[in-house]
Amino acid sequence: MSKQVREIGSIIGERIDYSGEVIPVFNKYNGEVLANVRCASREVVAEAVAEAVRTFRTTKLTPTERSGILLKAAQLVRERREEFARSMVREVGRTIRDCRVEVDRLINTLTISAEEAKRIAGHGVPIDGLAGHENRLAFTVRVPVGVIGAITPFNNPLNLTAHKIAPAIAAGNTVVLKPAEVAPITVMMLADVLREAGLPPGFLNVVNGLGGQTGQYLLEDERINMYTFTGSLGVGKHIKQTTGIRKVTLELGSNSPTIVHKDADNLDDIAQICAMRGFTATNGQACISVQRLYVHADIFDEFVAKLVDCAERIKMGDPELEETDLGPLISEKEARRIEEWVSEAVAAGARIVCGGRRNGVFFQPTVLTNVDAAMKVMCKEVFGPVINVVAYDDVDEVFRQVNDSEFGLQAGLFTSSLPLAMRAVYELEFGGVMINDVSTYRSDAMPYGGTKNSGLGKEGPRYAIEEMTDERIIVMKL
Ligand code: NAD
Repeated sequence: MSKQVREIGSIIGERIDYSGEVIPVFNKYNGEVLANVRCASREVVAEAVAEAVRTFRTTKLTPTERSGILLKAAQLVRERREEFARSMVREVGRTIRDCRVEVDRLINTLTISAEEAKRIAGHGVPIDGLAGHENRLAFTVRVPVGVIGAITPFNNPLNLTAHKIAPAIAAGNTVVLKPAEVAPITVMMLADVLREAGLPPGFLNVVNGLGGQTGQYLLEDERINMYTFTGSLGVGKHIKQTTGIRKVTLELGSNSPTIVHKDADNLDDIAQICAMRGFTATNGQACISVQRLYVHADIFDEFVAKLVDCAERIKMGDPELEETDLGPLISEKEARRIEEWVSEAVAAGARIVCGGRRNGVFFQPTVLTNVDAAMKVMCKEVFGPVINVVAYDDVDEVFRQVNDSEFGLQAGLFTSSLPLAMRAVYELEFGGVMINDVSTYRSDAMPYGGTKNSGLGKEGPRYAIEEMTDERIIVMKL
């Protein structure tokens, strides 16, 4: 007897719509069909937006109600931590240990958003300091923007979705969410949990389907007041161009750099964290993965040997097994793309120090040296377990190379020199500079977002709430 495959429709208020073309969601390790997604048509998207507009106009939740719902959701996720993690392993292919970390981060994001829901405030504006304006009292309040269209990627389906919907709800908005079509199952579990936590129908509507169709219909609906997107640069540019003067925040890609200076403490630990954050965390598929690693020439050979040692100890295999460190990539197409980029780099003079091979949907943890800035593995986002190591002698030169990128999300620097760290703080052109850590460090409470082609606007609940509210000026003539 064939196994029952779950149907995934779109959530419109209290109703689930199961119309539309069917696309399968696969287990990324063994190819089994996990669910069938019903793609939301233009009409379904329009209904979902109408529901979000209606709810925004008719139902208001107080800050303590919004906070309470998010806290309750955090508690429900905590109770189902393993269920969430296992679901994510199957649909994304990341390892079980890695997915548990993401569920814990989801709990943090919900909790921080719950706290921030109670701290949304404007400020006093001393306009009476201007002659002729003495008899007026001015202050601002922050009001929700209205309906938010959220579009999310596959790689961290839970926490990156929570970074949009939790602050949106905390700020009093309603949401129409379009999750990545290759990994919508665990996001739907999160939507169920929010409803169970008491979120009234209509606050979170979910439209499932392909980006170029369902996503595109969402972009074209003028009733949406703001878009919040995490995904690739190409789609980010398209969203910016399509949505006119409406508000947009974009969290896009990067080819993230980390510098290991000759005075850095404990190279063993640094090699270990680089390997973890370049190869195994999210299987290398993170916008802040360690990709360009600049190592001072004095310690280059020693450091590369340590990094290779870490890479060679990584166990690839079934992501559901506790001992597995690295699972499959999201698709064979992506694994082939990385294989091509590595081959192109080798043809142009790069050296594979370890790894470099694809096996189906798996790609070995790979260390490349002799790379140059024009190679795709260097100048584009690899989004897979590949680290390029570059030797440098001079700090001015390495800062120039690090900044020589169309991206600017986060950078890392290992050094024991405070003056060098302070130079990096001001001279590296990135949204975040991590001192004595890799580019990949992120706390869910901090402001997060890039410069240049890495994006626009900030996430992190407090900062996302600023983006998702409008500041309204009130002037009272006394
Ligand atoms: P993607 O851009 O292919 O897809 C992201 C989302 O956009 C999906 O839901 C997709 O269906 C939708 N989409 C695609 N075309 C669309 C269109 N024409 N209109 C509307 N929506 C459309 O990205 P992905 O492959 O899912 O994720 C990988 C990318 O995400 C990488 O580039 C990575 O750097 C980026 N990313 C950035 C961050 C960050 O915080 N800066 C975090 C994670 C991932």
